Amino acid sequence: MSSEFDAKWKEFEDKCLSCTGCGLKETVTNVVIYRGSRQAPLMIVGEAPGAEEDAMGKPFVGRSGRLLQNLIDSYGFSEEDYHICNICKCRPPENRRPTPSEIAACKKNLAVQFRLVQPKVVLLCGSTAYEGFFGEKPVMKEVRGKFIEKNGFYIMTTYHPAFALRNPANKVPIFEDMGKVRDKLAELGLMEPFKVINA
Ligand code: URA
Repeated sequence: MSSEFDAKWKEFEDKCLSCTGCGLKETVTNVVIYRGSRQAPLMIVGEAPGAEEDAMGKPFVGRSGRLLQNLIDSYGFSEEDYHICNICKCRPPENRRPTPSEIAACKKNLAVQFRLVQPKVVLLCGSTAYEGFFGEKPVMKEVRGKFIEKNGFYIMTTYHPAFALRNPANKVPIFEDMGKVRDKLAELGLMEPFKVINA
């Protein structure tokens, strides 16, 4: 990565760490910015950090995160292929849903992050991620599993991994949607086609 990119990334991280766009920062241990690669063809976006994410300073490292990671690994992604983040970088108290004004405040930083990461494909996990991106509440059953092509980006919405923790049968649609994302990345020439290797 060039030193110019490093400098831009540092400027972005500093901006996130000193952000006072909403009141959440005063209540958190860490501002949770990303994990994975700083530039990647796939950006995975969740809602907001939970307790474990807040403690570790990384997104999706708790129970939902482990499920998400299993899914990512099962499709043969490596760390260079994805960038994981959230609509909100600070944990809302008691894991409540971020408010519209918290989402709006954090969106400015997310827009900078998006330009730095330069993904081609975006996977929105759950309705808050959809709302943060598109500014309206989705009917999840209707929007999930379909690509929206916008300004050359391919945006897929799926259920939040926490939905599959509540009922393992809910893993199936998330698994299917991740498969479509994987195929899109191969179709765009950004990853090798996915092959199931029989052990
Ligand atoms: N849920 C999210 O939406 N994001 C995380 O980082 C963890 C749990």
